[in-house]
Amino acid sequence: MQVPFLDLKVQYRQIEAELKPILEDIMANGAFIGGPQVSAFEEEFAAFCGGGHCVGLNSGTDALRFALMAAGVGPGEEVITVPHTFIATTEAISQAGAVPVFVDIEPATCTMDVAQISRRITSKTRAIVPVHLYGQPADMDPILEIARKHQLAVIEDACQAHGALYKGRPAGSMGVAGCFSFYPGKNLGAFGDAGAVVTADANLAQTMRMLREHGQSRKYYHDMEGYTGRLDAVQAAVLRLKLRRLANWNRARRENAARYTKHLAEVPGVTVVTEAEYAQAVYHLYVILVDDRDGLQKFLNGKGVGTNLHYPLPLHLQKAYAHRGFKKGDFPVSERTAERLLSLPMFAELTPPQIEYVVDCIKEYMK
Ligand SMILES: *Cc1c(COP(=O)(O)O)cnc(C)c1O
Repeated sequence: MQVPFLDLKVQYRQIEAELKPILEDIMANGAFIGGPQVSAFEEEFAAFCGGGHCVGLNSGTDALRFALMAAGVGPGEEVITVPHTFIATTEAISQAGAVPVFVDIEPATCTMDVAQISRRITSKTRAIVPVHLYGQPADMDPILEIARKHQLAVIEDACQAHGALYKGRPAGSMGVAGCFSFYPGKNLGAFGDAGAVVTADANLAQTMRMLREHGQSRKYYHDMEGYTGRLDAVQAAVLRLKLRRLANWNRARRENAARYTKHLAEVPGVTVVTEAEYAQAVYHLYVILVDDRDGLQKFLNGKGVGTNLHYPLPLHLQKAYAHRGFKKGDFPVSERTAERLLSLPMFAELTPPQIEYVVDCIKEYMK
């Protein structure tokens, strides 16, 4: 049996018939930038995230960067985040002119260890960026409490967590801004690069609208320098059709995850990344931890099972941050997690027999 890591073709077939006339209309009218598709998507996605404003952008990285800049983060300041994430999180911090400062993760959930935040706060700290990794929110209440006490902005990296809940609150709705990626493989994916920020703060939204459009307040009048950072009409049209199906797809992902967990919980040597009591995760990724990770990955590959590593090297040990002088042992939970993690096939349309086949292969190897 072949079990792909991800199957975007089967998702496309579900929207194909509805999408084609909409795309033809966009092309026939030459309305590629801005327009009704973009503003309608922004309204619909804001509502999906619990209200407020949504600013459509061209990537999740720009969402993080613009949110940080609009919140006033700049040169000479520090932003606290985790080393166990995709590098876009820290790129955005550096590109806003600030310095990423790391705290380690919790071993069970792979999200920010909130007990470590306070000791990293200095007079230069300006913001905290929790990452809702694998589709599970970080423990937001303690983070928001620390931020309130020290007057820090909380900017959520919700790039993997569209529709996830923290004590009933949507991911991206708890900090001053929530940042989303619509990279094709995300739970809500465009036909290319796309992203968005949601925020309850109208001024913040206005600043980000200017940042995405060369700093202009009206056409060719520039209050500041900005970027080419817009969401385009084709991506917005695709995202609108997929957004209507997202709750169902997320439900299917949760069912698939439950099926994996039920079977894998009894396999000695396999640890499953735990769903926290406070969370309703949307399983962008389904990740297990095993000692002989490389061996298991090779074995599964030989059996036709697609897997991936998210992520194999923590950010503090990446060459890009060699100048910071981090060393092995600085963030031991992140390091040990990176050595042992393995992402299994996960998408809404995965079937029970496929999941059982993956589980059987894992059992066979672990024996
Ligand atoms: C995908 C992702 C991003 C960046 O999104 P892009 O759209 O690829 O720029 C940022 N953070 C995390 C955790 C992500 O998974």
